[in-house]
Amino acid sequence: MKITKLISYLDELYVEPYCALNFSSDYELLVAVILSAQCTDKRVNVVTKELFKLANTPQKMLDLGEDKLKQIIYPCGFYNNKTKSILSMSNDLIERFNGEVPSSLDKLISLKGVGRKTANVVIANAFGGQTIAVDTHVHRVSKRLNLTSDNSTPYQCEMDLLKVVPIDKRSRFHHQMVLFGREHCKAIKPQCNDCKLKNICQYYKNKAKKN
Ligand code: SF4
Repeated sequence: MKITKLISYLDELYVEPYCALNFSSDYELLVAVILSAQCTDKRVNVVTKELFKLANTPQKMLDLGEDKLKQIIYPCGFYNNKTKSILSMSNDLIERFNGEVPSSLDKLISLKGVGRKTANVVIANAFGGQTIAVDTHVHRVSKRLNLTSDNSTPYQCEMDLLKVVPIDKRSRFHHQMVLFGREHCKAIKPQCNDCKLKNICQYYKNKAKKN
């Protein structure tokens, strides 16, 4: 079965998959995940090292203020939107959740500036939940392997994966797929020659037909 082959190959490649973002509280993780959109985890870690010295709680983030926050997170890109999201989310946490990060998906996605992918990453890494956050890598690899349709949305992809990935492996699977997408099944020039999934990969089969 395709999913069994995929999981066993990912287990072979990534024995101990991990979250590459540095954080020391649920709130720090939430901020780091917001900053990681369209940015490398490495760069986020450089930025948060400075940011969290000044502001590592919702109230301190609000006290830091918009201008200073923009200035610090500038290297992460999309700093206007990310500043807005971090401040709205921090304000929401104080007003509705007593400053604490909630652990349920519904509550997390009810926070301004927090989307489903961010919420799933937080649930998995801060609360030990078994979720599959669909980022660009998970989505691309899933499409190539025909685990979801070519025109699926991230939400549809998540639902398709939840149907086939065993519940106790979901969080691990997410990390492995992110690493696999970054290091092997890259957006441009995937390393198909060395990949053991060639015989179950729709993308590879289509490519072979063209040649
Ligand atoms: Fe990705 Fe190529 Fe492997 Fe398919 S064969 S999963 S496209 S690296």
